[in-house]
Amino acid sequence: MGGFRFDTSYARLPESLFTRLPPEPVRAPRLVVLNEALASDLGLDRPALTADIFSGNRLPEGATPLAQAYAGHQFGHFARLGDGRAVLLGEHLTPDGRRVDIQLKGSGRTPYSRSGDGRAALGPMLREYLVSEAMHALGIPTTRSLAVVATGETVLRDRPLPGAILVRVAASHIRVGTFQHAAAEGDRPALQALLAHALARHAPEAADTARPALALLMATMEKQARLVAQWMGVGFIHGVMNTDNMTISGETIDYGPCAFMDAFDPGAVFSSIDRGGRYAFMNQPVIAHWNLVRLAEALLPLIDSEEDKAIVLANEAIQRFPALFEDAWLHVFRAKLGLSAAEAGDKDLVEMFLKAMADTGADYTNSFRALAEGQPMPVDPRDEAAFGPFLAAWAARLEREGATADRVRPRLLAANPAIIPRNHLVEQALGRAEGGDLQPFRDLVAAVTRPFAPRLEDARFRLPPRPEERVQATFCGT
Ligand code: AMP
Ligand code: MG
Repeated sequence: MGGFRFDTSYARLPESLFTRLPPEPVRAPRLVVLNEALASDLGLDRPALTADIFSGNRLPEGATPLAQAYAGHQFGHFARLGDGRAVLLGEHLTPDGRRVDIQLKGSGRTPYSRSGDGRAALGPMLREYLVSEAMHALGIPTTRSLAVVATGETVLRDRPLPGAILVRVAASHIRVGTFQHAAAEGDRPALQALLAHALARHAPEAADTARPALALLMATMEKQARLVAQWMGVGFIHGVMNTDNMTISGETIDYGPCAFMDAFDPGAVFSSIDRGGRYAFMNQPVIAHWNLVRLAEALLPLIDSEEDKAIVLANEAIQRFPALFEDAWLHVFRAKLGLSAAEAGDKDLVEMFLKAMADTGADYTNSFRALAEGQPMPVDPRDEAAFGPFLAAWAARLEREGATADRVRPRLLAANPAIIPRNHLVEQALGRAEGGDLQPFRDLVAAVTRPFAPRLEDARFRLPPRPEERVQATFCGT
C-alpha cells in the first residue's frame, strides 16, 4: 500500500493530442464518498486519498496533469471536443501490474471547454459513481469511480447546484473520437503514435501483426460487440453513444442520461436530448457498428498506404461486426437461460421470451431473475398465455442437453441479477444527497454492488417503480 505511482505514457505522445494544465483549485473540498475497495485494489492508502488531492488542490508527486484532445460524432454530427472539464492526473501503476488512468472530472476549464464552465454538479457525479460501480459488480467492463468530492462551490445549471469532482479510474480514456481527432488534424505521426500507444495498452498481441491498425480495429470491434451485448443482457441503455463516448479499451464510459429498463420495451429511450431515438435500447448494436465505421475511417491511412486497398481491407473487417455482435449476444443470453451448448434455434428461443415481455410490459430484470429463482413464471399470472409457449420451449430445450431449470439454477442465479440501479431509486437517492442526506445513496450503492446475492432487506430495491414513481427522462445534467 502507498501513494500514486505515476508513469504517464500519454504525456509522451505528440503535443497535438493534449494540453498540459493543472486542475483549477476549488474553494472548500470535502470528501463525499470514497471507494475503499477500489482504493485497496489500486494499492492506495490514506495519505493518497484526501479531498485535497481528489479536488486537484494538491497534486500528488509525479502527476502530469493534462487535458486530452478528441473529436466525436455527437448524434451523428462531427465536432472537435476534448476534455472540457477533466484532467488526467496520470497513469498509475497498480501493485498487480496494471496501468490505469486517474482522471478528475469537473476539474475546471481547459482549452477544450468551449462555452462550458469546466465544472460538474454533485448529482450527476454521484450518479456516475453509483451506476459505474453497479456496472462493475454486474461483471460488465466499465470505468470505475474512486471518489466524489464536493467543491464547496456552486455551479449554475437550470438552477444553482452544489459542485463536485469525480475521480475516475479507467484502463484508458482513449476514445474512437481520439483517433478521429488525430485523423482530422492530418497529423500522421500523431496518428501513428496514438496507434502504438493504444496497441500497447489494449491489444499488445496485435502490435506484431502484419497490419496493426487493422488488428486494433478488429480487437475494438470484438470488445464493443461483447460490451453492448452485456449491456443488453441487463437492460442498460447508454443514452449518448457518441463516438467520443466509446472507448478503445471496451469499457463503458460517460454515464450521463443512461438508464436500466424496468418494463421491457425494445424502443426505450430515456435521454431527454435523444428525440429521434437514435440511442434507443435495440438500436445500440447498430450505433456501435456505425461508430466503429468512424474508427475504421480514422485508421485508414495506417491500414495501407494505398487508400483503395485500405478501404477494401477496412470494409472486410467492419462487415463482420453484425456477426460478432450476434455471437456475443447469444453468448450472453444463452447464459441467462442456463444453456451450455449452442443450438440453431437459440436466437428464436430468446426472442420468444423477449417478445412475451414486450407484449406484457413485464419487468426485464425480475422476469429473468424469476427464471433463476424458480418462482412461478410469469411474474404476473395474468400473463400466462403470453409466456406459456416460451416456458414449454425452454424446458424442452434444457431437456435436450440433459438439464432442467433446477439443475442449472446456480448458473442462472449467477447470470441474472436481482438488483439493478433502478432509475426511480437513483433519482430519489440523488435528490436526498443534494439535500445533504447521503444515507439513501450509500444504501443504494451497497445494494447495487451485490446484484447477484440479494439479502432479505434488499427487497425494496427489487421492486419496479409504481406508476407515480416512474422516471420518464434522464438528463445529461452537465
Ligand atoms: P459529455 O456529454 O459528458 O460526453 O461531454 C461532451 C463534451 O462536452 C466533452 O468534450 C466534455 O468535456 C464537454 N463538457 C461537458 N460539460 C462541460 C462543462 N460543464 N464545461 C466544459 N466542457 C464540458
Ligand atoms: Mg463524453
